[in-house]
Amino acid sequence: MIFTLDETHSPKRNSFITSAQSQTTEFPIQNLPFAVAQNGNRNSIMVGIGDLLFNLSAFCEAHSQAIDIPSVTCSALLHSDMSKLMNLSFSQLLTLRHSISNLLCESSVHKDKILAHCSPIAQAQFVLPTIIGDYTDFYASYYHAQTVGKMFRPDQPLMPNYVHVPIGYHGRSSSIRVSPSIVKRPKGQIKNPDQPLPTYSSTAKLDFEVELGIFIRGGNQLGEPIPIESAEEYIFGYCLLNDWSARDIQSWEYQPLGPFLGKSFATTISPFVITGFALTPFFVAHKRIAGLPSTLPYLTKEPSLIPDISITASILSPMLRKTSSSPKVICKTNNSFLLWTPAQCIAHHSSNGCNLQSGDLLGTGTISGPEPSQAGSLLELTANGKTPIAISNDEGRTFLLDGDSVLLKATCTANQAVSIGFGEAFATIEP
Ligand code: MN
Repeated sequence: MIFTLDETHSPKRNSFITSAQSQTTEFPIQNLPFAVAQNGNRNSIMVGIGDLLFNLSAFCEAHSQAIDIPSVTCSALLHSDMSKLMNLSFSQLLTLRHSISNLLCESSVHKDKILAHCSPIAQAQFVLPTIIGDYTDFYASYYHAQTVGKMFRPDQPLMPNYVHVPIGYHGRSSSIRVSPSIVKRPKGQIKNPDQPLPTYSSTAKLDFEVELGIFIRGGNQLGEPIPIESAEEYIFGYCLLNDWSARDIQSWEYQPLGPFLGKSFATTISPFVITGFALTPFFVAHKRIAGLPSTLPYLTKEPSLIPDISITASILSPMLRKTSSSPKVICKTNNSFLLWTPAQCIAHHSSNGCNLQSGDLLGTGTISGPEPSQAGSLLELTANGKTPIAISNDEGRTFLLDGDSVLLKATCTANQAVSIGFGEAFATIEP
């Protein structure tokens, strides 16, 4: 694996920021996720630490002489989004992680200067991490593909290509919004099985998909595929991603060319980008599901590893909100269930010579596990609307109603490591 454990991951490393030492924080000093937030009338690159945002852009600008961050890195940090940061080399970014860890650790010599550039996460106005050039959504969960396939093609749930090719489609980057966001219920062309002709109407089958987003670092030249051996070098970091889906629009339009307007109306991502470096302690062996054919050499790497990321999806209905109840958790899944790793998706995406570019976003596809409670969409959890799920004693859902919010959260835990979190992707449906 390209990522290696070092002192920035050590459980012995403490931060002088008190809230970063809390047992329950998502952002201990071992995490150091990046986000972009408004700071007065400009946007700045910030680092999550405890319950604070450390404004790295402003700090670098004010103290460039006093700190050991190279000028090329400083100038990337002064940019109003992460596009230049995501274009730095792997080793420049590793060096930056060490610098930030040293700035925020107990023995930091810049404590007061840093505190002057910190503000509460709770008050932040986040914006998109970067201008997202291209967005590609994969379909990397075998269990999701199997369950959904069974609904629509009982005799052939999986197409023969599925176990050989990481399936994906080109998504729409213009409708990606950062959490917290509003999603307007889309209209579209819908034809129910009992209708002779389609109508243009509001979707009655609005759904979410639990996914992770992967931001690309650097990129490859057109015509030069990324080898699987070095694919992880092209991962800048991960975020939570909700691929909103209108199932009735999707099921009418998807043949023969795949998803289009049933998907392109909205995608929600979490503001924090968790770097590949932060995930280093949480990689586990990626075992191919027993009985499946082996992968072609360009998709094969031994050992194959994948980050173990536990993800939950919850619904907060207007009724739950009114009674100040917690969002109801309806799915508990894990990134490690995926059939195709992010490294395999990157190697495949570029295998025809297609150039990935810094700031591109890849979605994993709905992350479902082998158990029914691990299904990452309402389509699966309710058997396409046939069996409602309970969200309280008096309330159930098949698909989402206006006023519902969907919350995605994720954490990583491992022996000998400090647990880290992803923040959240939260969005509310409006008519
Ligand atoms: Mn998807």
